[in-house]
Amino acid sequence: MSYDDVEIEDMEWNEELKAFTYPCPCGDLFQITKEELKIGEEIARCPSCSLYITVIYNMEDFADQKSKTNIDQPKQQPVAEIVWSLAEALGLLQGILVAPWSMDHGLGA
Ligand SMILES: [Zn+2]
Repeated sequence: MSYDDVEIEDMEWNEELKAFTYPCPCGDLFQITKEELKIGEEIARCPSCSLYITVIYNMEDFADQKSKTNIDQPKQQPVAEIVWSLAEALGLLQGILVAPWSMDHGLGA
């Protein structure tokens, strides 16, 4: 059982330890590094006692920028192409509708 659930926003970045920290009731600090967060670790441990906390955070916020862009590479829809074929279809439809009215009925007269 973890001692507590703590959101990453409520933790404090400690430059000296290079880790996010949160005060432990024993007087020391729960610690979790960026590297640990990056790989999905969510347990911050206190080095002085057996307690630990569960860190609540969004793993994507700490994931490598590289792999992130590789994963959700958005597929570009050729919008211009769609608009063009739609316009073309409308033109065809209009041509069909207009055609009977513009036909010359006076051929045999
Ligand atoms: Zn402790």
